[in-house]
Amino acid sequence: MPELPEVETIRRGLGAAVAGRRIERVEWLDPRLVRGTVDADTLAARLAGRTTRHVGRHGKFLLWRFTGGGMLVLHLGMSGRILVSVPPTEPYAPHTHFVVRLSDGFQVRLVDPRRFGRIVWEERAGRLPALGPDALDPRWTADRFAAELARRSAPIKALLLDQRLVAGIGNIYADEALYAAGIDPRMPARMMTEDAVRRLHRALRSVLRRGIRDGGTTIRTYLDAAGRPGRHAAELLVYGRRGVPCRHCGTPIASVRVAGRTSYYCPQCQGPQGSRLLQDAGREAPVGATL
Ligand SMILES: [Zn+2]
Repeated sequence: MPELPEVETIRRGLGAAVAGRRIERVEWLDPRLVRGTVDADTLAARLAGRTTRHVGRHGKFLLWRFTGGGMLVLHLGMSGRILVSVPPTEPYAPHTHFVVRLSDGFQVRLVDPRRFGRIVWEERAGRLPALGPDALDPRWTADRFAAELARRSAPIKALLLDQRLVAGIGNIYADEALYAAGIDPRMPARMMTEDAVRRLHRALRSVLRRGIRDGGTTIRTYLDAAGRPGRHAAELLVYGRRGVPCRHCGTPIASVRVAGRTSYYCPQCQGPQGSRLLQDAGREAPVGATL
């Protein structure tokens, strides 16, 4: 599933392709992707003639804003892809569900084999109320993160995946950040020391930025708006690496189910040293960020 770095990479591709362009008309091949109160036909009527103001992002959502107001909110689900600068003569790829015809003659197409993607029209182009702050928003500070975690007893990994707490992090970057910060994915959030929370906050920002720098992570299906795979998979240190020796200590990477998702971690580097109890008892300082 595309996470913040993949969606950001797509945002940049889409933003460049539609900047200042007017939508001539849109076409639905599968209107079931449209959610919310505005149906596909109404949405088609509202989009026709609109000019792009800006393509933004909040967490894993793309926010396509138009002059004169309104925004198209796109979520790519498990396998959604956006293709840009497609010539109209090019045949539709399988599972093409939504086509936007632009004033420059090119098309934007949404392809989604598994159909978990969704499209919602918002009349007011503001923030998405159900989401926490974007993980790269400077207003999402370590202090704010610490205050939230202090009240929660769920495993830290489960909270990182909760988009209402902080938006944009998914399974891959959560595992990488927990590893970089030396924190067990099962650690109850309120048991984390302040130092551990700060390390994790820093590690999250770092792994997400590195993911963006590499154009995202392609495990199976993800491709950017120009159809290129991400280059970050080779940089992953724990995700998907069960049994492979940890680059830091040589212990085989293990996996465990947390909140219904497989979590990869190093049993040695992500031992109990993040726990407030053990740290208070004078254990040595945790392993620092390895990224
Ligand atoms: Zn290790």
